[in-house]
Amino acid sequence: MLGVYIHIPFCQQKCAYCAFASFVTDEKERERYIKKLIFDINNFHLLYPQKRYRKIDTIYIGGGTPSLLSIKQLEKIIQAVKENFNLAEDYEFTIECNPNSIDEEKLKFYKQCGINRLSIGVQSLDDDQLKFAGRLHNGDCAMKAIEMAGKYFDNISCDVLIGLLGMNKDKYIMQIEKLISNGVKHISAYMLQIEKGTLIEKIVKEKRVTLPLDEDCIEVYDRTAKFLAENAFYQYEVSNFAINGYESKHNLKYWTGEEYVGFGLSAHSYLGGKRISCADRLDLYYKDEGEFSEELSNKELIEEHIMLGLRCKIGINKNYLLEKGYDITKNSYLQDFIEKEIIITQKDDNILKLNPQYYGVNNFIITSLLPK
Ligand code: SF4
Repeated sequence: MLGVYIHIPFCQQKCAYCAFASFVTDEKERERYIKKLIFDINNFHLLYPQKRYRKIDTIYIGGGTPSLLSIKQLEKIIQAVKENFNLAEDYEFTIECNPNSIDEEKLKFYKQCGINRLSIGVQSLDDDQLKFAGRLHNGDCAMKAIEMAGKYFDNISCDVLIGLLGMNKDKYIMQIEKLISNGVKHISAYMLQIEKGTLIEKIVKEKRVTLPLDEDCIEVYDRTAKFLAENAFYQYEVSNFAINGYESKHNLKYWTGEEYVGFGLSAHSYLGGKRISCADRLDLYYKDEGEFSEELSNKELIEEHIMLGLRCKIGINKNYLLEKGYDITKNSYLQDFIEKEIIITQKDDNILKLNPQYYGVNNFIITSLLPK
């Protein structure tokens, strides 16, 4: 079934590490953006009249900082989605929030309009690290937000970053413990990436700070995975850990090749074998320009299947690859990976999965298994 993604690109302040399509703007710009967003949602079925695109089972409002939207603005967007799509009974509806931009009134409204999953951008509980990252909340604010959200929502996910300045291995695990003992059911633990054009890139280049070493980050990642596994969180993707039943159904669509439609600046869709991306510049987005669409070739489908499949619990399907023209059994690395239990075979040998122990160092394995 189709999933719907809605991108809200507004933030209160640009974080030091962030290269997402997000920016600080005024109320007038927000209103203009929401109007265009709703126009696109209302016109989707003119472009894609196929019956199968009417029914959806996931909605994900991401950003940016969607929790910056006023109740009225969010209400209009949700109304447009509900008027244009039929929501399956067992649906998942996520909104991304920052700890400093939610309050009881917003949470009550989220619940009332059918949102049933919160993804909170905690990133760290250490005040110095949060300051370094350019976040507007501190650890205390994050914990209060989680506690408040827990009164209304059972399905809460937290994003945390590995590799911020001054990372301490033991304290890192203690903060994960704090999150899960406060009812968080899903953790997304991302390695800090030094993205082009960010403030962190600048200060690292100028040698004004020294970030934790890669090997220390990998150790923290492995310890996080181990600690979460001991606490009933299973790893279903390289960066994602959940209590059984609390996986992100929406994000799984991206990793398993299901169809989804994205509305808003730089949003992506995958419909009828085509990847479509909206403009990543606001001026072009308003003019319906700068959209990019491509039909994936067999080679691209093969590469995508391997790259995504080995990042998550789904694995890769040998028969699917053969249909697309790639006999992976002839790959010179595969047998060795199987013998060393780096790759695990399942279902009559047809499914190949990456042993979760190697999620932290998956790049070499994935590259080796791609067609040459
Ligand atoms: S709140 Fe999120 S999207 Fe906004 S600047 Fe920070 S990291 Fe980027």
